[in-house]
Amino acid sequence: MNDLYGVIGDPIAHSMSPDMQNAAFDDAGLKAVYGRFRVSPAELPDAVKGIRALGLKGINVTVPHKTTVMPFLDELDPLAASIGAVNTIVNQEGKLIGYNTDGEGYVEGLKKVIKGDIASKEVLIIGAGGAAKAIYYTLASLGLRRIDITNRTERKALDLMEACPIAIESNYCTLQEAEETLIRYDVVIQTTSIGMFPDIGASPLMAGRVKAGAVFSDIIYNPLQTTFLRKAQYNGAVIQNGLEMFVYQGALAFEKWTGITPNTELMKKVVLKQLGG
Ligand code: NAP
Repeated sequence: MNDLYGVIGDPIAHSMSPDMQNAAFDDAGLKAVYGRFRVSPAELPDAVKGIRALGLKGINVTVPHKTTVMPFLDELDPLAASIGAVNTIVNQEGKLIGYNTDGEGYVEGLKKVIKGDIASKEVLIIGAGGAAKAIYYTLASLGLRRIDITNRTERKALDLMEACPIAIESNYCTLQEAEETLIRYDVVIQTTSIGMFPDIGASPLMAGRVKAGAVFSDIIYNPLQTTFLRKAQYNGAVIQNGLEMFVYQGALAFEKWTGITPNTELMKKVVLKQLGG
């Protein structure tokens, strides 16, 4: 019999995870099927009971359940607990364990484009939502020199920084201040939803003053090149879109479920095809 996996969220119809994970299972020679399940917030408790009752081996969790699913699990990985969000559940013989692979997935992708030791970098994160938190806490755990945050809502950025269990040099700045001091950063990470399809002309910053050799990344993957990235590239930055983060967060989930490292090149190809890239 096939092992069962899936993703829960609402909406879920456009999730690219099923095609990506099914291709990875086939490539690894595993008998497994990964489906998509639309679960409304009111149905979440029953859905988790269903995971247990039906013996699903692993689940990805997406918007709006990443935080609300946590009380229904038996155990939380410390990083997921500190981030306050779960995107991966492992069913370990009936015990449901929650992980967050978003931040680690992002860092795996970043390592492909960054030169030198990641810990020596000065980083600016644009945004203070769920994805920003996962990335900030994961980077903090790597002992980075400095991670600043700029965000429309100052309080949200301060809350994120104050709740981080790892002490790190970190300051908040307004979007305008970030624009003026952009040249100091080795890595600038755009984590807001600004510039995402269909609002593709929008950008949180002008990305005008770029440090030589700096990496500018945007975790949006639709479009593959946001206005933010286009401007940064024009001004000399090395750029990276959100495709790698998406692929590696899925690859890390796959590893936790199966103990096998999946074919990430294949996974990337499958997602690119879905995006029409
Ligand atoms: P979220 O928790 O809702 O956070 C949204 C962030 O965007 C907040 O910082 C918010 O600022 C900012 N924002 C939204 N609209 C804005 C506007 N009009 N002006 C200024 N700031 C605005 O969302 P999330 O889960 O972190 O996701 C953010 C983005 O990352 C989405 O585009 C999502 O698709 C993408 N993402 C990609 C991956 C991947 O695998 N590549 C994974 C997760 C998420 P305020 O705090 O001021 O509201």
